[in-house]
Amino acid sequence: MPAYDTNNIFAKILRGEFPCHKVYEDEHVLAFLDIMPRAPGHTLVIPKAPARNILDIKPDDYAHVARGAHKIAAAAMKAFKADGITVQQFNEVAGGQVVFHLHMHVMPRHDGVALLP
Ligand code: C5P
Repeated sequence: MPAYDTNNIFAKILRGEFPCHKVYEDEHVLAFLDIMPRAPGHTLVIPKAPARNILDIKPDDYAHVARGAHKIAAAAMKAFKADGITVQQFNEVAGGQVVFHLHMHVMPRHDGVALLP
């Protein structure tokens, strides 16, 4: 597996070198709106630890991301009057990953409404 690249776009967001629409931050994670939302309120939760994906992150750091997604899911249910939430996380090219800093997608869902491709 390739090494973590400190110049990936989410590393730049964490360093404040690239803008994002922040929705939550604590000492371990940052959450921001996806720039190409597949559903209204589509949010990404990323660890502040430099990790490429689930194959490259310490279990405790992954747990911080899961805690962040748990918080965002509850908030998004209320804010978007959602009927459900999809949580997704891709790993390596074969796993559908495009940006190589671990991120968890949290997507509010509404009955009968499909995710955008
Ligand atoms: O497949 P993967 O989860 O790696 O896709 C990366 C996600 O990051 C996409 O949903 C894309 O819209 C999002 N993204 C973003 N802000 C950027 C670059 C990518 O929200 N500046």
